[in-house]
Amino acid sequence: MMLFLFLCGGVWLLGRFMNAPTSARWQMIGLIYVAFLAINVALPPNNPLRIATGGDGKLWLVMGGLAAAAYGYRRVLGKIREQALSQEAERAPAPAAPSALGDSEVDRYARHIFLREIGGTGQRQLKQARVLVVGAGGLGSPALQYLAAAGVGTIGVIDHDVVDNSNLQRQVIHRDEMLGKPKVFSAQAAMEAQNPYVTVRPYNRPVAAEMVDGLLQDYDIVLDGCDDPATRYLVNRACVDAGKPLVSGALSQWEGQISVFDPANGAPCYRCLFPEPAAPGLAPSCAEGGVLSALPGVIGTMMAVETIKLIVGVGAPLRGEMLIYDALWGETRKIAISRREGCVDCGHIQG
Ligand SMILES: [Zn+2]
Repeated sequence: MMLFLFLCGGVWLLGRFMNAPTSARWQMIGLIYVAFLAINVALPPNNPLRIATGGDGKLWLVMGGLAAAAYGYRRVLGKIREQALSQEAERAPAPAAPSALGDSEVDRYARHIFLREIGGTGQRQLKQARVLVVGAGGLGSPALQYLAAAGVGTIGVIDHDVVDNSNLQRQVIHRDEMLGKPKVFSAQAAMEAQNPYVTVRPYNRPVAAEMVDGLLQDYDIVLDGCDDPATRYLVNRACVDAGKPLVSGALSQWEGQISVFDPANGAPCYRCLFPEPAAPGLAPSCAEGGVLSALPGVIGTMMAVETIKLIVGVGAPLRGEMLIYDALWGETRKIAISRREGCVDCGHIQG
């Protein structure tokens, strides 16, 4: 037993010295356990190696069982806690943020308040605004960070993924220590750490047809940066029906695009542009085609910019226009886009 503990301690310290992830260290300890168990079960009772490692296979089996039970108990507790947090956040009524700004908030948002187009009035509009962000991935990360920093009072974020190692190359709101945790809670922690004056409402679940209309009732503007075509069409239809603007961004390798879909104000909807989902293989996802690390930072930040403009009512949001950014050649261009007659989603809207 002492030998086992000594080896485990050694592996743990070595892993720490080499900056190995915690999961890899536990895997090594698991391997040592399996080796000890095999020695104590497979070798004859008088084998010197078996005697040196305890000699009793049953004892090792019981220890392994206890460790597995403790691990399982922790996992179950963690899941229950996550579910409770989700349900609590979803049950809470949409908060009505008081519009007055406290002294510390006036200080915090001073650079906004100095802007002629925003001022104190605009900052109070931001505080009262409720924005839903679909997807806490590449585009959602910078959008959420800037919405929180800008003082958007209520920020909803819906995503059902957990933080994966391959996300961290571009999804800058998540940290290495959040690996394996639901993205919405990771994003919530980052936003609340950045700005305690905003309320974050995490929804750790996929966007589903039966709940999307109810969800949108609590928000004024929706941002969509998800990479799932079915979710994009679902969110588009719900925004059209609710008459709410949809700030939409998309990425492909070195190129990004952004537009504000808003048929209630004469602009096309997402389906006007893309009546049918692209054929499989025609539009590779980030996972298949790759994407430049900083590109979602550019487009996601522009999504936050468009959202702030819509809330405060200044400038010309990208309604009826699509801005395309080619990072490889450092070029941007804007193309005019218009509503498509007979669009399944927005054809019935007078805009
Ligand atoms: Zn349409």
